[in-house]
Amino acid sequence: MITVRGLTKFFGDTPVLNGIDLDIEQGEIIVVIGPSGTGKSTLLRCINMLESPDQGHITLGGHHVDFDRVSNDDRLALRRKTAFVFQNYALFANKNALENVAERLIVVDGWPKAKAHARAGELLDRVGLNDKHTAYPAALSGGQQQRVGIARAMAANSDLILFDEPTSALDPEWVDEVLSVMKQLARERQTMLVVTHEMQFARDVADRVIFMSGGNIVEQGPPEALFSAPKDPRTRSFLRKVL
Ligand code: ATP
Ligand code: MG
Repeated sequence: MITVRGLTKFFGDTPVLNGIDLDIEQGEIIVVIGPSGTGKSTLLRCINMLESPDQGHITLGGHHVDFDRVSNDDRLALRRKTAFVFQNYALFANKNALENVAERLIVVDGWPKAKAHARAGELLDRVGLNDKHTAYPAALSGGQQQRVGIARAMAANSDLILFDEPTSALDPEWVDEVLSVMKQLARERQTMLVVTHEMQFARDVADRVIFMSGGNIVEQGPPEALFSAPKDPRTRSFLRKVL
């Protein structure tokens, strides 16, 4: 169980997250939706410590962190216990697929190179890239690059994978292959927090959909309930545009 309480984040004087409370069960698949600029990315980035939250606390993988006094150990713990899949893949251009996936195992987890490469190869096979182990990002399609990004996140063996609009940068032809890898992970009950506009994905795999607006969680529930009977006018207005 992951517990977030009172997560507050300011950029300068502007509040961006207004005290977010969130419980995530192990194996739970959560989709986060909401208008642009409402703090969805910031929420994910705060959980992973890519941004420094101002207030609140989190318990994740048995580690408790108070956001108003974060130690280097805390920061490292949250980095290690989570993995991030970026909209723009964020692969190392000068490393091939195998090296991109193995990097964290070698640098963060201290694995010997041969063992890390063997594990990276297995993961690339699982995302359907058996014949692309030695390909560099520039030689891969967007969908293939994002599958490397997901294999890299899987390598971390983390308590939570954070996906920030993983298919938004893709040409439409590559979206399904990435979603199908994510669905496979969901079937394996990998705990996932996914910001996406793919409402069919939410319907198919989410245990819970969270609607955010103005730095708050406005409403949440199982996808069928939230999509068919939203309670808050802001949720209704947003869903009218995207469904
Ligand atoms: P989108 O759907 O467009 O990705 P979002 O819900 O992910 O939006 P965030 O990126 O979390 O929104 O941004 C929330 C607010 O914080 C926005 O007003 C944004 O302009 C602001 N913001 C985000 N990052 C920074 C930053 N590094 N410095 C200053 N303001 C920021
Ligand atoms: Mg965003």
